[in-house]
Amino acid sequence: MSSIKKIAVIGGGISGLLCCYALAVKGFEIILVDNEDFRDIPTNDQRAIVLSEASKIILQSIGLWQKIQPFSIPIKEVWVSEKKVFGRIKFNANELGLGALGWSICAQDLFMIISKAVLEKPNVVLKMKRLFEDFRTSENILSLELVDGSTEQVKNVDFIVGADGFDSKVRRKMRLHVTRKDYNQDAVVGNVVTTVKNTGVAIQKIFQHGSLALIPSGDYHYTFIFIVKKGFFKNYYKNKKALLDLIIELCGFPFGRYCSLEVCHDYSLFGSKVFYRHLKKFALVGNSRGTIHPSTAQGLNLGIRDIDELISLLNSDENFYNKSKVSKSKQFLSSRKSTEIFADLVALFYGERYLTTNFIRRVTIAAVATSRKLRKQFGRIGTGIDYIAR
Ligand SMILES: Cc1cc2nc3c(=O)[nH]c(=O)nc-3n(C[C@H](O)[C@H](O)[C@H](O)COP(=O)(O)OP(=O)(O)OC[C@H]3O[C@@H](n4cnc5c(N)ncnc54)[C@H](O)[C@@H]3O)c2cc1C
Repeated sequence: MSSIKKIAVIGGGISGLLCCYALAVKGFEIILVDNEDFRDIPTNDQRAIVLSEASKIILQSIGLWQKIQPFSIPIKEVWVSEKKVFGRIKFNANELGLGALGWSICAQDLFMIISKAVLEKPNVVLKMKRLFEDFRTSENILSLELVDGSTEQVKNVDFIVGADGFDSKVRRKMRLHVTRKDYNQDAVVGNVVTTVKNTGVAIQKIFQHGSLALIPSGDYHYTFIFIVKKGFFKNYYKNKKALLDLIIELCGFPFGRYCSLEVCHDYSLFGSKVFYRHLKKFALVGNSRGTIHPSTAQGLNLGIRDIDELISLLNSDENFYNKSKVSKSKQFLSSRKSTEIFADLVALFYGERYLTTNFIRRVTIAAVATSRKLRKQFGRIGTGIDYIAR
């Protein structure tokens, strides 16, 4: 792997930009390809993204955390409960011996910080408004399609990183098997302003039609994320008062009164599972390597771990794959797979309302609420600290 000099990163979303920056820091020559141009896209994504402890440590290692931290809010506690059901889980950073369970940052700020960092790197060449078309591995020639339908060829590219999202063309080129899932759910995301300054508490409330997360995103700001059955919000979406009433009905006033509410965006939720392996000249990071349900806020965190794993691989870090040093169970707990299974289970038990799923969800919440050991285990998955400790 050490013979690799020039790397093309396909996809300039948040994972692609991060990957591009991390590889540039490590001294590789980078070509960043995107069918849009991240410099033109109006950055109006106001939702809070939660970065985990593992992400913080990885971002620290490439010198980016120092730029992100001033814009981030530490989350010290997460309260999980179900409406009209007794019992509440309180995940607490102290219990895990951490300063915070995660850090919330406005997606727009994160995107700006990473874009700026990429633009400052002299060893990154931008190829914007170009579609990845093909990569001829025998001759190391990358073919890109321009908007007018013509083709541009880039020579001497040693390695391709696919960061081209859910419907990845690079993944197709790698001939990896993928299964897709339509969750048949919408996420409706927005922000509320409160009268009491946040103390680092995030809330997750399960209710009859889905779940609601309230995540601190500023001194007096919270991002709300409703995840509900498709179509449920047809009458709510434009009706701020109805949304606010629903938030009050579910959570009450733990942060004082709500002063104003803005809806930012809605998303149809899809997932993909990829039977993944790195190839000699290809790797995937982010949503192209698997897209998970957002209820555990792990999607980008997994993308950051993919990037870290890729750097270790490109540096021919023997220890990274020296599996004998770590027990099988620890290897599994630190893997992408275990986080994907965790996210799938949470999505299933938060989303479905059958007698059996209701029963399992309520028993699990009661068990985790009363068992410090279980809370620590769930906390370790959520913060990704087993990945760092591997
Ligand atoms: C409601 C919601 C809340 C979330 N909250 C969190 C959270 O709190 N924490 C967290 O970690 N994650 C969270 N996520 C997940 C996170 O948003 C995603 O994991 C992340 O945005 C994925 O980014 P990506 O760069 O991998 O993919 P994308 O954003 O899809 O980027 C793909 C890029 O590739 C480009 N592209 C595609 N095809 C081609 C081609 N052929 N040639 C060239 N370019 C191409 C596209 O233009 C695009 O720029 C959340 C997701 C949702 C929906």
